[in-house]
Amino acid sequence: RVVVVGSANMDLVGLAPRLPRPGETVLGDDFVMVPGGKGANQAIAAARAGGETTFLGAIGSDSFGVTLGARLAATGVDTAHVRTSYGSSGVAVIMVDRSGENSILVSPGANRTFTDLTESERDRIAAADVLLCQQEIPMATVAAALTAARAAGTRTILNAAPARELPPGLLDQVDLLVVNETEARAITGGDASDLSALLALVPRVVLTLSGAGSRYADREGRDVHVPAFAVEVADTTAAGDAFTGALAVAWAEGRDLLDAVRWANAAGAACVRKVGASNALPDRSEIDAIFAR
Ligand code: ADP
Repeated sequence: RVVVVGSANMDLVGLAPRLPRPGETVLGDDFVMVPGGKGANQAIAAARAGGETTFLGAIGSDSFGVTLGARLAATGVDTAHVRTSYGSSGVAVIMVDRSGENSILVSPGANRTFTDLTESERDRIAAADVLLCQQEIPMATVAAALTAARAAGTRTILNAAPARELPPGLLDQVDLLVVNETEARAITGGDASDLSALLALVPRVVLTLSGAGSRYADREGRDVHVPAFAVEVADTTAAGDAFTGALAVAWAEGRDLLDAVRWANAAGAACVRKVGASNALPDRSEIDAIFAR
């Protein structure tokens, strides 16, 4: 069982021949609306990867909130404890031009109201095998979730994305840190390829390397590059979310972390074959098919 504590946004994606300049109106191409936010995406990724998944987060009282809740539930995510807070949901207004360049405005909305944990939310964390957090909600809530998990013997994963300043002591509560190179540098202030600086802070680290796969290192002395699966790339959006959600599921199932990381690479590879964000997150059979190569 996996519990994800994090953000949920509605992504409003408008395609256009070019990005409008300030004050300008541009006639666009297609428009799509998809659930997003790292928390919701990773919960969807975990559920599609076959994990029994609970999402804890806050959505607004607007129609986006209704749609977000319905999409999560339709994917099989347990949304019984999702909060509805009065006001707007988190929204990302995304403009993409024909070269793929984008401009993004994120309005956190309800995510900003998720400032503490209730007793029943703590109970859900305590009942899970793995807790998965990201950094798109107030960090005090991330810290409270990690602490609740630690107290109950639930293993903790922090995907330190997006990079931001960490409260002191937060990493002491993390069993497994998942970062890309930018996020690794933000934490250590140094060279991303030197994982020893991260291992001084957490016992296990996974570094994602995009098309080069990932690297797993721990305090027991393992440091292994796990190559990516070769696939035809259509769109790398959400690859990190597919990877992290699948990793949480595999670890919750008791798989060895090296095996879990290899399986997560297969999930990332399956995701980049498709255009889109949460709609491109692979299901278990797609992941297994690539993993079996
Ligand atoms: P993020 O988007 O968080 O920076 P990455 O770009 O590192 O994450 O991608 C996460 C994972 O997805 C990688 O570790 C890898 O396993 C997989 N992946 C990403 N890009 C590719 C690619 N071009 N080919 C195959 N696998 C990929």
